[in-house]
Amino acid sequence: PLVLGIETSCDETGVGIVRGHTLLADAVASSVDEHARFGGVVPEVASRAHLEAMVPTIERACATAGIRPYDVDAIAVTSGPGLAGALLVGVAAAKALAFALGKPIYGVNHLAAHVAVDQLEHGPLPEPAIAMLVSGGHSSLLRITDVTTGVEPMGATIDDAAGEAFDKVARLLGLGFPGGPVIDREARSGSSVAIDFPRGLTARHDLERHRFDFSFSGLKTAVARWVEARERSGEPVPVADVAASFQEAVCDVLVRKALDAASSEGIEDIVIGGGVAANSRLRVLAEDRAASLGIRVRVPRPGLCTDNGAMVAALGSEMVARGRTPSALDLPADSSQPITSVLV
Ligand code: ATP
Ligand code: MG
Ligand code: FE
Repeated sequence: PLVLGIETSCDETGVGIVRGHTLLADAVASSVDEHARFGGVVPEVASRAHLEAMVPTIERACATAGIRPYDVDAIAVTSGPGLAGALLVGVAAAKALAFALGKPIYGVNHLAAHVAVDQLEHGPLPEPAIAMLVSGGHSSLLRITDVTTGVEPMGATIDDAAGEAFDKVARLLGLGFPGGPVIDREARSGSSVAIDFPRGLTARHDLERHRFDFSFSGLKTAVARWVEARERSGEPVPVADVAASFQEAVCDVLVRKALDAASSEGIEDIVIGGGVAANSRLRVLAEDRAASLGIRVRVPRPGLCTDNGAMVAALGSEMVARGRTPSALDLPADSSQPITSVLV
């Protein structure tokens, strides 16, 4: 099926077009620069930017794919979770398109789309699979039996999301926003063993109750304390070493728990998605450790890890291919749509 997908859950206006598992276009307009001076995404600013970017981004995607809107078999759109006002812009645009073209509409879960996008790069998703979703707002381990219906949470962060930790640590190091890409870059010239930062929820007594859960707020505080102590003593802060050691702590825990989840379920495939999956250290560490256990790891290329429209089109394409019932034309935007609700 030829599917056009629309993503507006946060600060990226994304329009993707796929045919089956083939990516034809992935147009993204980001308002990230407008938020940078506030140190985080400002919802009102994001909504307005989506409004302005929506039509040009749809046009750009269609031109790149060499299709006309009338050619599509279905429209897919992120219905949630995300910023309410931002979601509404994408959902309204998708409804208008679906109504005007007389095509079915699928309101899909943003988090499941972060997982489904991998099929555009590596072919049909392995099922069952363990999915690790690590982004700005979420950090979860999921058991996937059928990505269009069966997403089962195994664990999640009990405080900050992994991407949130990157953003907060970058801020306290004065590196700007968003933090993930800058920390990734800084870490390359630092030592990952320079500072022994804590690995949240990995102690034996924590594993009893939180085997597949994450905690990153203690790590963030530990980094803040370490940096403050340095500053108080008048010594320079070795930014690259702090970045590398912090990044190592996050990636170490993520990979350990994802592999443990796969082993415990007897599942041999792990799919990693979400913005933090773009992290270069996470990708290498996951591949290395998985290989020695005979577990396969799939991570889409960095451009498909952060928010985009192709991921929504990819999940929409699976909905059509697997004969799922489309959403109603009055489908809601649900800012807190749970991961267990893949299609509204
Ligand atoms: P969610 O998907 O939970 O709704 P979101 O849509 O804001 O959140 P994504 O675009 O999926 O999130 O991811 C953005 C997050 O990914 C930010 O926190 C950013 O710092 C982080 N990120 C991006 N690139 C990297 C990287 N190379 N290393 C680590 N983190 C990264
Ligand atoms: Mg973003
Ligand atoms: Fe996202």
